Amino acid sequence: MKNSIIGYPRIGGLRELKFLTESYFKKSISGSELEHKAGELRAEQWRYIAGKGIDYIPSNDFSFYDNLLDTAYLLGVIPERYKALGADSLTTYFAMARGYQGDKGDVKALPMKKWFNTNYHYIVPEFDEKTQFSLIGSKPFDDYNQAKALGIKTKPVIIGPFTLLKLSDYSGGRKASDFVTSAVKAYKNIISGFTVLGAEWIQLDEPCLVTDLTADDKALFTELYRQLLNEKKGIKILLQTYFGDIRDIYTDVVSLNFDAFGFDFIEGKKSLSLIEQYGFPKGKKLFAGVVNGKNIWRNNYEETLSLLKKISEYVDREDIVINTSCSLLHVPYTIENESLSASQKSQLSFAQEKLDELGEIKALFLDKNAKNSQIYIKNTELVKQRAAFADKAVQQKISSLNDSDFIRLPVFTAREEIQRKALGLPLLPTTTIGSFPQTAEVKANRAKLKKGEITTEVYKANVKAKIASCIKLQEEIGLDVLVHGEFERNDMVEFFGENLDGFLFTAKAWVQSYGTRCVKPPIIWSDIKRKNPITVEYSVFAQSLTDKPVKGMLTGPVTILNWSFPREDITGREMAMQIALAIKDEVQDLEAAGIRVIQVDEAALKEKLPIRREDWHTEYLDWAIPAFRLVHSGVKAETQIHTHMCYSEFYEIVRDIDNMDADVISFEASRSKLLIVDALLRENFRTQTGPGVYDIHSPRIPSEGEIIGAINRMLDGNRIKKEKLWVNPDCGLKTRGEAETVPSLINLVNAAKKVRNELN
Ligand code: GLN
Ligand code: ZN
Repeated sequence: MKNSIIGYPRIGGLRELKFLTESYFKKSISGSELEHKAGELRAEQWRYIAGKGIDYIPSNDFSFYDNLLDTAYLLGVIPERYKALGADSLTTYFAMARGYQGDKGDVKALPMKKWFNTNYHYIVPEFDEKTQFSLIGSKPFDDYNQAKALGIKTKPVIIGPFTLLKLSDYSGGRKASDFVTSAVKAYKNIISGFTVLGAEWIQLDEPCLVTDLTADDKALFTELYRQLLNEKKGIKILLQTYFGDIRDIYTDVVSLNFDAFGFDFIEGKKSLSLIEQYGFPKGKKLFAGVVNGKNIWRNNYEETLSLLKKISEYVDREDIVINTSCSLLHVPYTIENESLSASQKSQLSFAQEKLDELGEIKALFLDKNAKNSQIYIKNTELVKQRAAFADKAVQQKISSLNDSDFIRLPVFTAREEIQRKALGLPLLPTTTIGSFPQTAEVKANRAKLKKGEITTEVYKANVKAKIASCIKLQEEIGLDVLVHGEFERNDMVEFFGENLDGFLFTAKAWVQSYGTRCVKPPIIWSDIKRKNPITVEYSVFAQSLTDKPVKGMLTGPVTILNWSFPREDITGREMAMQIALAIKDEVQDLEAAGIRVIQVDEAALKEKLPIRREDWHTEYLDWAIPAFRLVHSGVKAETQIHTHMCYSEFYEIVRDIDNMDADVISFEASRSKLLIVDALLRENFRTQTGPGVYDIHSPRIPSEGEIIGAINRMLDGNRIKKEKLWVNPDCGLKTRGEAETVPSLINLVNAAKKVRNELN
């Protein structure tokens, strides 16, 4: 019996790689310095992992930006416009990742997308008519050799051809199946390259196998691997999957000539039953993902051992390799750097601690007397302690919820009339999403409070001064529904988490989101409740300065949950309901304090939509949408509830979004070519909507004419009825500067006025 990891984080325990790479971007270190220092980081990590006795240590899981981009680059999938820069390889690589503007030319970055159901993002490769798909790079081999020189024999990891072809974009009339022959040839070259270097194993990652597969997808996969595996010799090939189970293609996959299969037993709800039902090929290895690569809780050894025991009824014990469920890329490095209490730390397991768990589970599984061992007893004790995370009062509240708590009355159409009269807004009302530019001054105010350089009174007075000038600015510009500007918030989840019981915050537990950008999700530690009113003071202050309505700004329960590490001892539904009740208290307080419009942001609602369509409702939407409804079901008819979502790619769940029963929703639409607006028309969308009329992710100032064009396209053919359309940017303005924000908003208001006049 052995153990393994699928991949390891690479950004560095103290984000060393991030800072090195950013220094390179700023030209304060050279490309070769970056390569050299990154090599040192890799070496240190390999030594650490080897020191923990891991049997299968990955290489080529390192990346300067993203592994899918690495794979595309390795195989020459480089669009002409990047080659045309005539730059060195590192410059070309980063041009694909983040665009290039300089003496060699001006090219935009390739698009970036979310990696399955994680908060990691990959770069989308592009195949065009000129793409020559063949092995041109050497990074995986260089990595392998570097580790080998340190005396560490690794298992090279590379994204497989199926996932590469499925996740790429195509232009010039090309499609994935056109590339089967050249893909097979290129991957054969990779495999024989490693055979020559003496590698014993190679891991091909095919996470796309856990998605809904069509007959064409299945044919593509089997054709690729039938050809790829036909004359395989020497090296052994591990087919690695993660983020789910491979229910659509299990029997085809296990009949192929792989030497090992990696399945996820954490998110793969059906992984065990597939083996039970169809068996597992004799003499092949099963890399069993039993240590959660996505969450930060200590493994439950009792559960894991009983799972392994069940697996061992179908797979010989010596053929089972204890594995992580996915790459450890999705968890932070180590709890060592945190200043949490010993009992808190004892419950947590980041990447380094998971290496220990893999060793312990392996030892326990081999030990006939495991249940009497100290390690096992201590673990059982830890798991038991989690019962103390419960708060009776909170649980009581949740269990006494009934159907009427999720229904807001009167119904939408009646409210729409009442609000029209109560708020007296013009046609095409203008608003923003909430935050205004977080200037250096705003950030300094927060930092000074944190360092104790100013008192809370001074801090608050500074925030209020910013709010006052923000209100004045919005009145001058002529916006209809104003915001206070969110100057008191660093992050829309952290700010609320800090004001709720039940959250734990880390200091250095960073996780890579994309490129050099990392996030530090809070941990949901225990049952959640609101400590005290969170936003009322500033909202009331802002409203006192103007006759126009000022929106109260809250983050919704699903987004708070999705951007945190969740508990494992209770369900997502329970956590969402607890947060919903806390945010509901805030909604009620805002309303009681005279706030007439309240926005509950659900920026991340779409993010955790399950990978498999058949799971969408039962495992997620059936509680996520009610959690949102619970938040606002108690408000008066006059109070207008807004929500905001960051991605507009929710064509397939438009009905569910309408079912949130908000009065108004705003979302990003300026980049997605109005596809979403057509879906709204098709589904007879009822909620009033503000699809963003300009992109706030770029400093560009949109002209008045452009915005008029966007508004008219939305109104065109009654896509959105004029009585239901709002005019707003597509997200919060916090990352923008004041210089571009003010003229952009002036153009937005003027554009809305012109179209409004024509309609009147
Ligand atoms: N209200 C938040 C803001 O304006 C929403 C941010 C978001 O959607 N990510 O910043
Ligand atoms: Zn947004």
